[in-house]
Amino acid sequence: MPSHHTGAPSGTPAVTPLDRLDLGALRRTVTSGVSADLRWRRAHLGALRRLVVEHEAELLDALVADVGKPRLEARLTETYVSVEEIDQLLAHLEEWTAPRQVSLPLMLRPGSAHVELQPKGVVLVIGPWNYPLNLLVSPVAGALAAGNTVVLKPSEHAPRLAALVGRLVPLYFPADVAQVVTGGVEETTAVLEHRFDHIFFTGSDRVGRIVMRAAAEHLTPVTLELGGKSPTFVDDSVDLAVAARRIVWGKFTNAGQTCVAPDHVLVTRPARDRLLTELAAAVHEFFGDDPRTSPDLGRIVDAGQHARLVELLRSAGGTVVVGGQHDAGDRYLAPTVLADVDPEAPIMQEEIFGPVLPVLTVADHDEAIGMITSRAHPLALYVFSEQDDVRAAFALGTTSGGMAYGATVVHFGVTQLPFGGVGASGMGSYHGRASVEELSHHRSVLDKPLGPDTLRVLYPPFDGLKGRVVGAATAPGRPRRPAVLLREGLAALRGIVRRG
Ligand code: NAD
Repeated sequence: MPSHHTGAPSGTPAVTPLDRLDLGALRRTVTSGVSADLRWRRAHLGALRRLVVEHEAELLDALVADVGKPRLEARLTETYVSVEEIDQLLAHLEEWTAPRQVSLPLMLRPGSAHVELQPKGVVLVIGPWNYPLNLLVSPVAGALAAGNTVVLKPSEHAPRLAALVGRLVPLYFPADVAQVVTGGVEETTAVLEHRFDHIFFTGSDRVGRIVMRAAAEHLTPVTLELGGKSPTFVDDSVDLAVAARRIVWGKFTNAGQTCVAPDHVLVTRPARDRLLTELAAAVHEFFGDDPRTSPDLGRIVDAGQHARLVELLRSAGGTVVVGGQHDAGDRYLAPTVLADVDPEAPIMQEEIFGPVLPVLTVADHDEAIGMITSRAHPLALYVFSEQDDVRAAFALGTTSGGMAYGATVVHFGVTQLPFGGVGASGMGSYHGRASVEELSHHRSVLDKPLGPDTLRVLYPPFDGLKGRVVGAATAPGRPRRPAVLLREGLAALRGIVRRG
């Protein structure tokens, strides 16, 4: 097994052109059984890890250039978390892929049964542009850990990163383990016509629908990691300065272009004024007098997204508490907090996905819960309250992909917590063990010795004692007392033995 595959001859295009996509080679690797071996999986997880570690500087350059991320932020949210994810999978591979024994019903004993996790086959991973490295590497790591081979489709809106991934992957993986296809709508549409064994998609709900429709043609299972409006509730029982810092950090990291960023805040009236003051103070503390000159504030990915955000800001109504400045030439949008926005304005209808934070005032948590449940289930829900009854009301009264009390965004980094959406925010989940489970087929296996043939109890004819015993033992709703079952079982067995 090549530890550092250098099989791409010079002059060979790095990215697999669509017409050269060799799904047969990828599928044969899995059907041959070679990828069932944990050594195979470790070797390729190791290769993925080395790809990120050995080329971190180039990867960070691409992330800074494509998305306008601050360099250290790109390390924290892209290269570091990717390697953490790989390390978790390597550390627990044996445990997470082990078969699980289950007990047999009395009638089917003796024998044994277990669930074994099998590789699914070829997994297509389609990535978005906002965390274009991490959201490719983490699902790919899960796919490899589960013994699958992969096709990676990076986002065309992070073109340098996509080209770099296209160049590096063939250096670390043979073409029967991983292939990269780059391109936009046209290329992805063509790729989706092929039959995969699983599709792992991260992106918008609009494209999620397109992917699921294409998958339906082949009855291919999908994981959809989508977005939506993730709400944040705040009341006056918490330390509002700390709450404000955590909200501001979660919102303005990557200039608000984060699927689990707090989309908007619902604050109770007694907390409103102080929260607004603290939010403004936190923006000032993090990004200085003029955020435009801060090295720690990212930019908007492209002109189209910038124009969309400026229009959302313009039509929001309400008052600007802090920020509001923008410059298309620099793809700059100041970290902006808005108070009293119009609940009917476009900014409260679509996912904001940028550095604008509307703060709406609610009478109490019940009103907030009503507003949350009147929309599609969010990807994340954040609750800042120290009151047990308020926390319980959110826990019972709402549904969301994930939930955090007292924090925003960082639940994504707990690799032991499955990450995913529900309803319009997605289906399926991943990270750590959840990735292995999601990207494996769970095969149920029964092993039943042929002798003695205890299954005779199920064979006709059901005459005499056998008929009566089986009839009595399988009567629906009958109390299953072990002593009675044993007595009846022994009687049935005696009848079978007597008959030979
Ligand atoms: P997108 O849906 O526009 O694009 C995602 C991928 O789909 C890209 O690779 C793109 O090439 C491909 N694509 C686009 N149009 C297509 C089409 N018509 N047919 C086939 N493929 C197509 O998403 P985006 O703008 O890159 O990312 C932003 C969205 O992703 C936001 O909604 C955000 O909330 C969501 N997101 C979710 C998560 C998560 O983990 N749940 C993470 C990041 C982003």
